[in-house]
Amino acid sequence: MYIDIYGGLLFKNFLVSIGFTFLARYEKIQIILPGQINFILKPLMKILVTGGAGFVGSHLCQKLLAQENEVICLDNFQTSSKENIQKLLTNPKFTFVLHDVTVPLEIKVDQIYNLACPASPIHYQLEPVKTVKTSVLGAINMLELAKNNQAQILQASTSEVYGDPHIHPQTETYWGNVNCLGLRACYDEGKRCAETLFFDYHRQFKVAIRVIRIFNTYGPQMAENDGRVVSNFIIQALKNEPLTIFGQGNQTRSFQYIDDLIAGMTKMMNNDQDFIGPVNLGNPTEFTIKELAELVLKLIPQSASQIVYQPLPEDDPRQRRPDIALAQKKLNWAPQIKLEDGLKATIEYFKNKLKNINP
Ligand code: NAD
Ligand code: UDP
Repeated sequence: MYIDIYGGLLFKNFLVSIGFTFLARYEKIQIILPGQINFILKPLMKILVTGGAGFVGSHLCQKLLAQENEVICLDNFQTSSKENIQKLLTNPKFTFVLHDVTVPLEIKVDQIYNLACPASPIHYQLEPVKTVKTSVLGAINMLELAKNNQAQILQASTSEVYGDPHIHPQTETYWGNVNCLGLRACYDEGKRCAETLFFDYHRQFKVAIRVIRIFNTYGPQMAENDGRVVSNFIIQALKNEPLTIFGQGNQTRSFQYIDDLIAGMTKMMNNDQDFIGPVNLGNPTEFTIKELAELVLKLIPQSASQIVYQPLPEDDPRQRRPDIALAQKKLNWAPQIKLEDGLKATIEYFKNKLKNINP
């Protein structure tokens, strides 16, 4: 809601007429110019974040709380623990619900961010049937919840919907190249089916959806045992263990720092142009995995680690880079944080974490 009111008298009358209780549900009153009072009344919302204890989810909960929203964080701790949300538990606007998204849920909410799903290949391949259920049943349950509440819902989809892509960089119009029988399919096809469900709920039931396709994202609050490449290389370098490059290291990825993702994600949810996506959110600067390993070693000069080469996992995409023209145009969004700067912050985080584990 956005209301402009001119003149002090009107301002006073307005405050009296809306009353204290009403105001308590709204935030931000800004005086922009003398004699002209601008009210930007933004409703405080009750927002559900599934997978809220995970890497991305915990950053998102923090940001939504900082904006004074009420946040309900739902998680089954499959790939996370209480650690990431420990500090948030004392905030009266924060509630944690131990729940599995494959089980239906009834709760009153205004917005839903659906993030629940293991994202690291080693974790989503551990119990592949569960991974499919989390993506598909989780999407159905959260879309039903959105439908019943007339709530807006955002799906955290992935660049994996493009599989091992033949189009480079990847645009949202590309349909992808996924092996539906492979080890990665439980995740890739699960996420593809979830996108289908989002668009069908939108067409059939008019659910207000948003779909983002996230490209490789890293940063503080990744789990130490996450297994994805950035946290692996940093932890290996800090522990003076060999950096494990899979294959020759000439496959590419484009690494996005977490703060850039959270900015894009919340912009997408709150865009008022009814732009539903799908939209790529990623950093368009592409690196080989070997370049990443060398950069991590450069940033941790005291490390005695060497690089070792291990077999390339099945169906490992050879190249990945987002085309972000759509996000730039529709959301006025582009990543701001360079890989080197994001890595420095992530290295600091893991340094402290390892120090606390082995003081
Ligand atoms: P993560 O593993 O750190 O977080 C996932 C969270 O979901 C964990 O807290 C886990 O316990 C929870 N979870 C898993 N299954 C659940 C279930 N059945 N019920 C309830 N909770 C469940 O991963 P992340 O990197 O934070 O990813 C978050 C979301 O973003 C995922 O949906 C992932 O597919 C998507 N994504 C992330 C990236 C990335 O690079 N980080 C890239 C593409 C897409
Ligand atoms: N990788 C690697 N060493 C590791 C972990 C990953 O060389 O210890 C490679 C992996 O084979 C892939 C890339 O790094 O080519 C990114 O892997 P990650 O698991 O981070 O994410 P993906 O993009 O494959 O889902």
